[in-house]
Amino acid sequence: MQPEPDGPLDRLARLARRLFGVDMALVACTDADGVWQAAAGSPPSDAEFPFSLECPVHAADGRQLGAVRLLHGQPRDFTDEDRLALQDLASLAATAVEKRHALACERADEDTWRDEARKLSLAIAGSGTGVWDRNVVTGEITYSPGWKALLGYGESELTTRIEDAYTRLHPDDLEYVRAAMQDHFDGKTESYEVEHRIRCKDGSYKWICSRGKVVSRDEAGRALRMMGTTTDISAVRAMSERLQRTADLVVNLTDAVPGLVFQCRPVPEGGSWFSYVSAGIWDMFELTADDVRGSTVAIEQRIHPDDLPIYRASLQAAAAAQTPWHLEFRVCLPLQGVRWRQGDASPRRDAESGVVWHGFVTDITDRKCAELELRELAATDALTTLPNRRHFMSRIAAELTRIKGHGGRSSAVLMCDLDHFKHINDTWGHAIGDGVLQHFAKMLRAQLREVDLVGRIGGEEFAVVLPDTDIERAHVFARNMQRRIADTPYLNDGRHIPLTVSIGISALHTMDEDAELALSRSDRALYYAKQRGRNRIESVFSR
Ligand code: GH3
Ligand code: MG
Ligand code: MG
Repeated sequence: MQPEPDGPLDRLARLARRLFGVDMALVACTDADGVWQAAAGSPPSDAEFPFSLECPVHAADGRQLGAVRLLHGQPRDFTDEDRLALQDLASLAATAVEKRHALACERADEDTWRDEARKLSLAIAGSGTGVWDRNVVTGEITYSPGWKALLGYGESELTTRIEDAYTRLHPDDLEYVRAAMQDHFDGKTESYEVEHRIRCKDGSYKWICSRGKVVSRDEAGRALRMMGTTTDISAVRAMSERLQRTADLVVNLTDAVPGLVFQCRPVPEGGSWFSYVSAGIWDMFELTADDVRGSTVAIEQRIHPDDLPIYRASLQAAAAAQTPWHLEFRVCLPLQGVRWRQGDASPRRDAESGVVWHGFVTDITDRKCAELELRELAATDALTTLPNRRHFMSRIAAELTRIKGHGGRSSAVLMCDLDHFKHINDTWGHAIGDGVLQHFAKMLRAQLREVDLVGRIGGEEFAVVLPDTDIERAHVFARNMQRRIADTPYLNDGRHIPLTVSIGISALHTMDEDAELALSRSDRALYYAKQRGRNRIESVFSR
């Protein structure tokens, strides 16, 4: 006896025949995959028009797929219950047809994937990329020959078990690789992509990039099959590590250098920004890299207002002439206060963006202070700490320029010479003579205003300039001076050393060609004072 066909529709036909006790049951359906029919029993031969009952088979979307039909030779009444039962059978038939269609679609999909995988595998053979195909349900994974070659294996080597695949992963990478895979299985990611190390046949590790995608899932969304590629990225990783090391070296070196190392680039809309600053940005400007990433405005706000114009102009000039920039300037910092900085940079014309600067800024405050001290020292008389002759001469010259510029009132110039000073030295000794000079300088200074100028211009000769002061008022000043000296003689070991001073006065005019003229006039007046008996005040009006 031949075995009966055993598809789902065959079983339905047999069930229908038995259920209704009819001669024959037929199920016939048509769908995209073709005609599908089944029959149970044989057609009644003794009746030309057998008694029959038919129920259409409808798909879930309402399309008619076919029908279930019962045939019987003898007269037969079908009840309503029979009709309902037949409807149930028809819907079972519909489910079977639809399931068959779904399976056919899935198989077609898989065939397409397999075909594409084969083409892909061919296309990328020898390109440092391998292909893998994993059955998630059975835990079987197959590799293309290119994949095996990547790790140094022959075609017939390597097992197909996924557990073995995981043993080849670098232990430090295992956790995040598994997590990425799980995320993709759970549908949290569109595809699986992860970079990790994998052990080769010779035991060494290679960096690879593994990319894949689940290509089929069951009705509950569980991954059934996954395919992917593996690319050798060791060379790229090595290069990026080398680049990283170079970048780290630059940062470490520039951070170790005292001061700020920078690169400054123009902005297309105008202005510029710091594309690189070393850690010294804080020490030099009390700013962070973020403060200057957008623009150089924050830096300019730290520059001393008096130095900002020259700062801008010098940068502009260096950029225009393409010459190195060098400038000493002051900054005003919230914590450090006013400090001196030195900037050095080279402009390089960039065809695309304009002038790019590379340079550095250093702290020169200590040097500047030392320079200032030296300059003061060079301008100061050591014994009396008053400005020396050279410094006084430059200041009186500046005063003449001032009154000429303002067309203002003339200033008084006083020349003071201690009387019989040689005698003091001879009588009391040179050291006491020094003490007398210091004493006189102190009293003179005490009588001056902020704007007045003074200088020790000879051994026991002192000059004073009283700005915007006429001769009459200068006389008052001179008389006060003489009185003060008379009232406060120098005291040494309880002994008073009497001292008088002769003073010659003249005016510094806007018509004077140089300040020496006024000084020589005052000298002439001083000469008269000496001649007329000393401890006197004389003045000369004429030019
Ligand atoms: P006169 O009233 O005419 O000005 O007489 P004088 O003695 O003050 O003038 P003279 O020019 O003859 O002498 C000035 C003296 O001042 C001579 C010099 O030794 C002394 N002298 C110059 N510089 C110093 C100094 O730094 N310390 C001391 N102790 N003496 C000085
Ligand atoms: Mg003298
Ligand atoms: Mg003298």
